[in-house]
Amino acid sequence: MALLRLPGLIDPHVHVREPGATYKEDWSTATAAALAGGFTAILAMPNTQPPVTDETTLEAALQLAREKARCDYAQYLGATAHFGPREAALAPRTAGLKLYLSRTFGPLWLVSTETWHHPFRLWPQEAPLVVHAERVTLAAALFFARLYRRPIHVAHVAYREEILLIRGAKERGWPVTCEVTPHHLFLTQEDIPRIGEGRAEVRPKLGLPQDRAALWENLEVVDVFATDHAPHAVQEKDSPQPPPGYPGLETALPLLLTAVQEGRLTLDDLVQRMHHRVRAIWRLPEQGETWVEVDPQARWEIPAHGWHTRADWTPFVGMKVQGRVKRVVLRGKAVYQDGRVLAPPGSGRSLRGV
Ligand SMILES: [Zn+2]
Repeated sequence: MALLRLPGLIDPHVHVREPGATYKEDWSTATAAALAGGFTAILAMPNTQPPVTDETTLEAALQLAREKARCDYAQYLGATAHFGPREAALAPRTAGLKLYLSRTFGPLWLVSTETWHHPFRLWPQEAPLVVHAERVTLAAALFFARLYRRPIHVAHVAYREEILLIRGAKERGWPVTCEVTPHHLFLTQEDIPRIGEGRAEVRPKLGLPQDRAALWENLEVVDVFATDHAPHAVQEKDSPQPPPGYPGLETALPLLLTAVQEGRLTLDDLVQRMHHRVRAIWRLPEQGETWVEVDPQARWEIPAHGWHTRADWTPFVGMKVQGRVKRVVLRGKAVYQDGRVLAPPGSGRSLRGV
């Protein structure tokens, strides 16, 4: 069995759920899932409880990460309507700034474009600015990027109209980058009956088959694959008010390796989008002596249970994949091997040195 060696993958879009909702996930379980999926670093989203929006909440989240993370990490700041110079000064300690421009749950939704000016103007040019902006709102976000002449990164592009907007902006040399999730690359609305209505809830919602096809057809304008790992308890997903989101850290690599086997992308396309481009866009340091060993021949069916994430379910159950993570080495130490996470909580390091 010839093993394939990949650089440590980096996921720039993970919901760790701690502080506030550790029954869904916490820093220890999220980073265990990351290592099991071949990710040696994650960037954590700020829509926790309380949300990470200022120095106090940022420091509290970082402290939890220091105590519990098993892989390397950085933490996003979320912009509120009160964003100002004090928040902008936190940039070097963060993964970047997240702007929720499309309707979202919680206090981070920037409803009016009136509240967009400060973050677009004050956040440092060289620091990542990530937008959740769907459909027409994406056009507005691109307008703001142009207005303030600053780079933006578009989270989870899901629809044909969105990838065409980004293609147009890139063709004109605008400094926009974007990510696509495995669930928008591999699932559509046609999968909802199989997944179940509540479990299939996700934002952006699953697209039509033509949306999925457009993402594959425009792969060259997709900079990054990000999981948007958004774990919820199964009981919540099966309740009358199911919250949106899927776990994704442990299924991303096998799904994408299967696409490589099928000739839908090359291994270099994958490594660029899960390592090199992520490092370049977020300006991340190299993790020395860090790699992932994959058995590219291993064929398996995605199981319903047995995952490291506390949200022990997956929308990809039953799908046949080829390629399996055998071993992960982080800074010269085996941190995952044959189904077992070996790295203890607290062994992960901050990618921003804080
Ligand atoms: Zn998200």
